[in-house]
Amino acid sequence: MNERRRCTVPGCRREALSFTQVCADHLAFSESSFEFLYNQLLTAKNWEGLNLRRLTLSNCKLESMEFEGCNFEGCHFTDVSLRGSRFENCFLDYSFWQSCNLQESRFMFCSFAGSRFRDIDWQNSDLLHINFNGCKFTNVTFHSSDLYFSRLINARMDRVNLDDCNLKRVMFQNSQLKDVTLKYSNDEEAEWEWNLI
Ligand SMILES: [Zn+2]
Repeated sequence: MNERRRCTVPGCRREALSFTQVCADHLAFSESSFEFLYNQLLTAKNWEGLNLRRLTLSNCKLESMEFEGCNFEGCHFTDVSLRGSRFENCFLDYSFWQSCNLQESRFMFCSFAGSRFRDIDWQNSDLLHINFNGCKFTNVTFHSSDLYFSRLINARMDRVNLDDCNLKRVMFQNSQLKDVTLKYSNDEEAEWEWNLI
């Protein structure tokens, strides 16, 4: 799975998606190609080094799975349940998330820089050492989650529930927070301002 292959369309220099011969731009996202990729993903519980860059996933379940070193950059997730799944060292920058269930998930050392999240349920999750820099969150709950050492620098949050969360060493510098609740969280252990040297 770690083998990197070029898209077979002449002149295209992008990497081919896993399970296919072409990149996302050259894959016709018909129902059948989506079903094909989705069914391939369901053939195993653990995946390593997948390239799913710019894939669109909607109305599906990828629950209790494990992804390591996988590329999900620019992916669109709509009405997707990843409940109980684990992601380690994965690339999710500039991804789009709408109406997804991410409860009881575990993300470690992943990057979501520049991503957008709307109507997301991320309760009871571990989000450790995550890069959320420049992300925009609208109506998102992290209730009872551990965000230890995650970075939310330059993030925008509107209607975000951070109640009962571990915010130790979480970096919020330059972020804009509107209707954000922090009840029972250790927000005093988070970093809100740049430390002037
Ligand atoms: Zn291509």
